[in-house]
Amino acid sequence: MALKLFNTLTRSVQEFAPLDPQKKKVGMYCCGPTVYDFAHIGNWRTFVFADLVRRTLEFSGYDVQHVMNITDVEDKIIKRVREQKTTLREFTGKFETAFLDDLKALGCREPHQKPRATEHIPEIISLIEKLVARGVAYKAADGSVYFSIEKYRGCGCHYGQLLKLNLDEMRAGERVASDEYEKESVADFALWKARVPDDGDVFWPSPFGEGRPGWHIECSAMSIKALGETFDLHLGGEDLKFPHHEDEIAQSEGATGKPFVKFWLHGAHLLVEGKKMSKSLGNFHTLRDLLEKGHTGREVRYLLLTAHYRETFNFTLDGLSGARTALARIDECVAKLRELAAGNTTANTDTNTLTANFSNALADDLNISAAWGEVFKWVTETNKRIAENSLSAKDAASALAAWEKVDSVLGIGAKAEAEAPAEIVALAEARAEAKKARDFKRADAIRDELKAKGWVVEDTPKGIKLKKM
Ligand SMILES: [Zn+2]
Repeated sequence: MALKLFNTLTRSVQEFAPLDPQKKKVGMYCCGPTVYDFAHIGNWRTFVFADLVRRTLEFSGYDVQHVMNITDVEDKIIKRVREQKTTLREFTGKFETAFLDDLKALGCREPHQKPRATEHIPEIISLIEKLVARGVAYKAADGSVYFSIEKYRGCGCHYGQLLKLNLDEMRAGERVASDEYEKESVADFALWKARVPDDGDVFWPSPFGEGRPGWHIECSAMSIKALGETFDLHLGGEDLKFPHHEDEIAQSEGATGKPFVKFWLHGAHLLVEGKKMSKSLGNFHTLRDLLEKGHTGREVRYLLLTAHYRETFNFTLDGLSGARTALARIDECVAKLRELAAGNTTANTDTNTLTANFSNALADDLNISAAWGEVFKWVTETNKRIAENSLSAKDAASALAAWEKVDSVLGIGAKAEAEAPAEIVALAEARAEAKKARDFKRADAIRDELKAKGWVVEDTPKGIKLKKM
């Protein structure tokens, strides 16, 4: 069944087809983190959604090039660097590492490219130069370079592709310097911000004078460099539709004269305990907070993946407990199948309806609730067959193979591996290093330390395996 997705550009569910004439390669860009703090659970909903899109495409046989930028220079970052009297790299490096650790803990596949904005200043400058040359950008009296919406529209270009904007009320030449603004204040936005004393050491030389890029132009420059002037998929949270994504389209199409992106996908908001997440309400969660409370990345991933991406999702701690119960049901069934299969690998997945039903559900604009429905129907039926003793070793191996195929999209993995905390994984890796260096004394000492912490490490042909004692 062909994959259908809701394209924000056309406001309709459309059949997905890549630009590649061979219909094999897919370019996918997801706006990455602004590394000024730990990402919260609302941010994680978007990244887990992006991971689901990528895994679904890979499951469908596409060769995906997944790009996620790291915004490491932007208004909020500069403010904090100034407040904390640190350097840009030191400040952003810490949060970038934390972000990538969390991404891993949530079972997300690592993007193939993770370009940093500060490492693309020449590309950003050259894109701004193109916009100036085409007459859709200008230098204002404050020394900054702005994008002119009036000139852009004058060329017959369409500003407001992702959502309806009241451009008639807009006053020509009115400017906005900050990276984030309301749609009521549609105005010329900054591409290059002239250096001001508050920027401290954060500035670069440019043909327009010393300064730094605006947030929106960073994504245009990096996505074009990584995926070309026109690419297949651009994802993000719905809060990024305006102004960020609208401005990305304007800058990119204004510079290249070509359509920027074929499919725009937006993930909906998240509420926590029925309310908008806020620090003052005490319902603000980072992944770290949840792990500290004893939840696992796997449980958080499961819960975030239970709702359709276009529906507002209510994240609750009760929901997380429910996730533990649901995962235990799957784990138990899979463990029984492993026992029954007992190394039998002559599986024939074609006889299993799980993968077919599951992929049909996902093909329908990523109908994840229906997909989970198929998984739990399969668990019930499999348990019934096991109880009736009507499952042969070959059947069990076949069922396991189907489950593994489905799990390549769900990404919840096997229990013990998924639940080993980072500290345990680090110890197991240190032991492997010691063994490699033939330092067996140290390797044994680490093995004992792991044992004391309740973990057994096994060396298998596929690498190390961690098991809870
Ligand atoms: Zn972006």
